[in-house]
Amino acid sequence: MTHHKSSPSSSWHAATRLLHTGIERTPYQETSEPLFLTSGFIYDSAEQAAATFRNEITRYQYSRFGNPTVASLERKLADLEGAEACIATSTGMGAVFSALFSHVKAGDRVVASRALFGSCHWIVAELLPRYGIESVLVNGTELHEWERALSKPTAAVLLESPSNPMLDILDISAIAEYAHRVGALVMVDNVFASPIYQKPLSLGADVVIYSCTKHIDGQGRVLGGAVLSTAEWIKNTLQPFTRNTGNSLSPFNAWVMMKGLETLSLRVEAMTRNTTILADYLATAPGVLKVRYPGRTDHPQHALAMRQMSGSGTLLAFEVQGGQKGAFAFMDALKLIAISNNLGDARSLVTHPATTTHAKISDAERAELGITEGTIRCSVGLEDSRDLIADLERGVEALTRK
Ligand SMILES: *Cc1c(COP(=O)(O)O)cnc(C)c1O
Repeated sequence: MTHHKSSPSSSWHAATRLLHTGIERTPYQETSEPLFLTSGFIYDSAEQAAATFRNEITRYQYSRFGNPTVASLERKLADLEGAEACIATSTGMGAVFSALFSHVKAGDRVVASRALFGSCHWIVAELLPRYGIESVLVNGTELHEWERALSKPTAAVLLESPSNPMLDILDISAIAEYAHRVGALVMVDNVFASPIYQKPLSLGADVVIYSCTKHIDGQGRVLGGAVLSTAEWIKNTLQPFTRNTGNSLSPFNAWVMMKGLETLSLRVEAMTRNTTILADYLATAPGVLKVRYPGRTDHPQHALAMRQMSGSGTLLAFEVQGGQKGAFAFMDALKLIAISNNLGDARSLVTHPATTTHAKISDAERAELGITEGTIRCSVGLEDSRDLIADLERGVEALTRK
């Protein structure tokens, strides 16, 4: 849970906040964040333990309930997001699952955008209905579909913008307005934009969800997630659910992520510069049919992206000629950029959505999302852009080789 201490920190910018907020130092006054790798905590007396369980004393009891290192991460994330409170979870999917399932019950209705991360899509389309919760999927860029779906009482809305893998941009403010009219809580999976480039709460969202596995760790080491919202919702709705179902983050992973957060803005900005360079190169490369990057004026929602986000992000998608064969030839020719379905890493990665992350959905659904056999998603890292371009040239060469 978050507490804001009064300090000059209120006027600090993101890069400064990431280094200096949230830290709770021990009497040793260590410079770096301490790591409290402990499952339990010791009481002074039997009476103190009893009083703690009567909620008369607030203190650490057990790391499934709370841990000082995890709490530091939660404070840092809440501070960065401008949210009242945060709960860190074991993974990003743990965050999505707990946010949704803590809030809905049998008989409720959930509306979500169709272009969701694979496991989010499974939760909405497969899991919710099993528990008597109606789920409706809409084409996220079509506002009239949201308006129609949100014409009756709805418990929650879940959306992702930019979406995976085609980087569609959804109008968060407009969707939030429709959602609030019918009482729905708006949950935004903000992984692709990262907390550096998009603040869903200021656009009208109620809950922000992260896979901290991505840009926040950013160095491909640990899994983790986070949910941010009002102190009231976190304390009364989410916290009882995560505490009692065991969706808690390891203090070790929290510590690793805190070190990641210290360089988050630096990394995301440098990666975005590289992504822009790569997108522009690919747009003119022979054999490349299409490039999708929110920062380019040829992106179908470019204007909305520029209004809603303060940067274009570290992911791009492109389509090569020759379908799956072309895409595989391109990817296999790369020597620097690795084939991996992770994203937000300091290392550049490519994946072929049609045969990996989006292999399980139907051909019709894939077509609806704009994912073709020739589509490649690239998560751009921190390498020198000249080396990345040289690598992409190998892919282009393989594509156009006769
Ligand atoms: C990775 C990801 C998730 C899931 O996060 P995990 O940490 O892998 O569980 C959810 N949503 C989006 C958009 C993601 O990229």
